[in-house]
Amino acid sequence: MVLPSEPEFEQALNELTSTLQPFLKANPEYQRALDIVQIPERTLQFRVVWEDDQGNPHVNRGYRVQYNSALGPYKGGLRLHPSVNLSILKFLGFEQTFKNALTGLNMGGGKGGSDFDPKGKSDSEVRRFCQAFMLELSRHIGKDTDVPAGDIGTGVREIAFLFGAYKKLRNEWVGVLTGKGNDWGGSHIRPEATGYGLIYYVLHMIERSCPEYSLSKPETLVAISGSGNVAQYAAIKVIELGATVLSLSDSKGTIIAYKGFTKADVEKISALKLKGGSLESIASAGAWTYHAGKRPWTLLPKVHIALPSATQNEVSGEEAEALVKAGVRIVAEGSNMGCTQEAIDIFEASRVKGGKAVWYAPGKASNCGGVAVSGLEMAQNSARLTWTPQDVDARLNKIMTDCYNISYAAGEKWSTDGPSVAGVLPSLVAGANVAGFIKVA
Ligand code: GLU
Repeated sequence: MVLPSEPEFEQALNELTSTLQPFLKANPEYQRALDIVQIPERTLQFRVVWEDDQGNPHVNRGYRVQYNSALGPYKGGLRLHPSVNLSILKFLGFEQTFKNALTGLNMGGGKGGSDFDPKGKSDSEVRRFCQAFMLELSRHIGKDTDVPAGDIGTGVREIAFLFGAYKKLRNEWVGVLTGKGNDWGGSHIRPEATGYGLIYYVLHMIERSCPEYSLSKPETLVAISGSGNVAQYAAIKVIELGATVLSLSDSKGTIIAYKGFTKADVEKISALKLKGGSLESIASAGAWTYHAGKRPWTLLPKVHIALPSATQNEVSGEEAEALVKAGVRIVAEGSNMGCTQEAIDIFEASRVKGGKAVWYAPGKASNCGGVAVSGLEMAQNSARLTWTPQDVDARLNKIMTDCYNISYAAGEKWSTDGPSVAGVLPSLVAGANVAGFIKVA
């Protein structure tokens, strides 16, 4: 069959399919499930017409990919970014299906969004866009059907506008969106969840593979890309634990802080990003260097842990080589599909060598903390209760531990390079894919 080319989706599908091979060989009856699971249950595409502050009409494309509801209501974020297209949303919805399975909560997978760019728009313009978007989306979602949330470009402001619009259109207050503000049913720790969860996952990886790079030591050097929600809270957690965060970046460039960012630095960057500012505008403020048009990976002579936390395909093969040369031991994604296949191949080849190996964790395992706390927000909304930050954080930590353990165990059994040879770490790519797939299948 001739289908349109969908490069990001094909990349995600190929990654899953290739790592499932040893499992499928031993369990051929699962092949049909793989054929079925790769096609979304439903794909919605619609027109969104909104007015700017001068009263001029604008039009954007809106989408919701309802990928898989085997384990629960479709669940996944809404991305608002000019790059958004069906290939990107299909890859994200596909990944989300297995990620959500790895949380152990009852959530199916979905993703949506628009090529609308909230950057440079006034609050009123964003509100009018969100209302117009929800006018169509509201027909297709529901607290037990499909529960969207934030993603790139969709933060607490956008969720508030979307939630308000849904409430008005349907005349009901239900937990139909997650990532809400605390005053209207949001969960404590949801903004922090992806970044904190990433670090909880990484702590297990360090303990198993390189305890000498404990995050309580300032000599442990951590490179982070991105400066959004995920990167900010990953950085804050690393700084609180005691290690050194060397980099943060945005789509225009990277700031390197050779002495490490402080928590106050990250808070300043967070306030800047909330206003839509770019890192360039504050790069001369600290003892920092700014590198226009560059990602962090080639800029650091020495780094122990790398956390891609910006967007997909943000580590190329060349950048992966540079990280290996700089002594990286752990690469864990805060973003979805942060590494290209070339980069994954380089990290995985190093893992198989043993010794001072690089160990790579895919986003569907290491960043599942965000959607996990979204699942906890749904539970709180259904029960009309608010749990304490400590309670939510403890549950998040437990979910990340379980996710690490199941991806580790499945990796030991189903790594493409054979069941764990003494001293060789299991593949967490294979592990996360097989463990997630078995649940959904
Ligand atoms: N967009 C986030 C993700 O990629 C969170 C989705 C959610 O909370 O539903 O997992």
